[in-house]
Amino acid sequence: LSRIIRYAIERKKAEREREKLLSEQLAIQELEKRRNEFVNMVVHELRTPLTSLKAHAQILRKHFSLTGDEAVIRTTTRMNTQINKLTDLISDFQDITRIEGGRLQFRESYFDFDELVNEIVEEMQPVTDRQLLLRDGETNKTVWGDRSRIGQVITNLIMNAIKYAPDSDRIVIKMQSDDTTVTLQIQDFGPGIPQTVQDKIFAPFFRVEGATARTISGLGLGLYISAEIIQRQEGHLWVESQEGKGSTFCFTLPIEREHPLEEKETAS
Ligand code: ADP
Repeated sequence: LSRIIRYAIERKKAEREREKLLSEQLAIQELEKRRNEFVNMVVHELRTPLTSLKAHAQILRKHFSLTGDEAVIRTTTRMNTQINKLTDLISDFQDITRIEGGRLQFRESYFDFDELVNEIVEEMQPVTDRQLLLRDGETNKTVWGDRSRIGQVITNLIMNAIKYAPDSDRIVIKMQSDDTTVTLQIQDFGPGIPQTVQDKIFAPFFRVEGATARTISGLGLGLYISAEIIQRQEGHLWVESQEGKGSTFCFTLPIEREHPLEEKETAS
């Protein structure tokens, strides 16, 4: 009899444990849902005045570029830079909630990979004093994927090389391809990333501790979003780095994937 009682008690205990775990999981899901709703609301509320601010700054710059007032042009240019930073930050927050809510969308079509990389390098060169060197600059490949999202990844990786390798006078960008994939490498000659955290930098909100984290602003979202985009495009993003020697961020993308013939939108 005592064995039966003990068994019944054990079962009751296990049942209670299971119920507790379940209610904890539900509570976490509820919290995540509320956090996402909150972030969405904040993003929406910030986006509207920011868009209007940006338009006003552009009008000011246009007006004063005609009259040639240097000081005002400089100020409006700075305003524009800061507005763009805020816009990027808001976009990152929006992407995070989209990823976590399974709502990150892709607009896919065929695009010229070399043209995209060249376009981004040309756009970014004027905003940095670092040399952006395009080596082995041709794959001659047409890739099926979301051009804008892949462009977001390339921009983010080059921006990181500029931000985190301030003493690197050049950033080397290499394109390669074979029959099935294209590869892009972005190499800087900055401080590098310690071996122990090389896989952690792709987690949300992770930043490598140290002097750079304190002086260079960021939230640790860019690489997480980039890795998610590349993975969803059936590619792979990784880093090769040695402390004191620099970092090379690389990604591969398949050239052909299963897809309908026309442009399509996919949610996760
Ligand atoms: P953020 O730049 O907003 O911090 P990221 O997700 O882009 O976010 O990067 C995460 C962290 O990885 C950065 O905080 C930085 O510590 C490290 N990191 C990224 N790129 C480089 C690089 N090229 N060189 C050295 N460290 C880097």
